[in-house]
Amino acid sequence: MKIEVDQNKCIGCGNCVALTQNSVFDFNDDGLAECIIDEIPEDKKEVAEEAINECPTEAIKEKK
Ligand code: SF4
Repeated sequence: MKIEVDQNKCIGCGNCVALTQNSVFDFNDDGLAECIIDEIPEDKKEVAEEAINECPTEAIKEKK
């Protein structure tokens, strides 16, 4: 599983960063979230999917 954040949609609310405790997402220099790991490990998938579902602007997508 790979994830990307659409920088044009992210509003920097921090939900995904907080939810994953900076282990999957973190803020970049623009104050927007980005995925900081290439492949989401098994033990982070559930929380990563929660972050996808709870992003208010639907900025987070699973890369197909
Ligand atoms: Fe950006 Fe969505 Fe993460 Fe909020 S939850 S920081 S809008 S990607």
